[in-house]
Amino acid sequence: MRTLIVAGNWKMNGSLADLRAWVSDVQAELDPDAGVQAVLFPPFVYLPALAELARDGVLAWGAQNMSEHAAGAYTGEVSAAMLKEFGCSQVVLGHSERRALYGETSAQVADKVRAAVDAGLQAVLCVGETLEQREAGRTEAVVFEQLDAVLGNLDDRQLERLTIAYEPVWAIGTGKTATPDQAQAVHQAIRARLAERSAALADRAAILYGGSVKPGNAEALFSQPDIDGGLIGGASLKAEDFLGIYRAARALR
Ligand code: PEP
Repeated sequence: MRTLIVAGNWKMNGSLADLRAWVSDVQAELDPDAGVQAVLFPPFVYLPALAELARDGVLAWGAQNMSEHAAGAYTGEVSAAMLKEFGCSQVVLGHSERRALYGETSAQVADKVRAAVDAGLQAVLCVGETLEQREAGRTEAVVFEQLDAVLGNLDDRQLERLTIAYEPVWAIGTGKTATPDQAQAVHQAIRARLAERSAALADRAAILYGGSVKPGNAEALFSQPDIDGGLIGGASLKAEDFLGIYRAARALR
């Protein structure tokens, strides 16, 4: 049975005071034996504080993006090695907001994933279709294009550090959640695509769902056979909502 993952993506939200209160509330309830891994992806600037606050606990953390380059004249960018210095174990890459608002291509995302895994980070690769693409019957084609760019850029050892987050763009921040059946269908297709590369990889890889996950719908989503937890935006900002989702995951393990 794969570990379930409940990961919060704060995007560009929150404050230092919010972070302190959130970590204190969440840490009080995390159970190392629950079979559920809790992760927080705050804005970059909060990572040093988070590394201190969460130092002795079971909460994992990471960044929402990083550079594909190791070092150099890349103003405004942050490298994988820098993230490691602040205790990050993982990094979200290729979020649909990065692709849509900052022009990240699948090739660039694939380079970022390789830089991340080479530095020893777990890369959480986001894939997902827009409503227009879904309605045109192109969901799998879009998701596979995003996925294949990464698979083709990594060897089998590097792939051990890949987590996938299926996030239909039409469900992000909209309150519209994919139904458990809709999500499961895409997760199953992603796992089958991974199996074409390696059965062991497909069996091991965590595939998270993201898109308006809340305490009230988490259990139905996470109980699907190919859904291994969630990447949570809006509902991760409040500790109580995040914990509601964590509890739903814990009840399934
Ligand atoms: C996200 O942006 O990763 C996300 C899933 O957001 P939300 O939960 O708010 O839809």
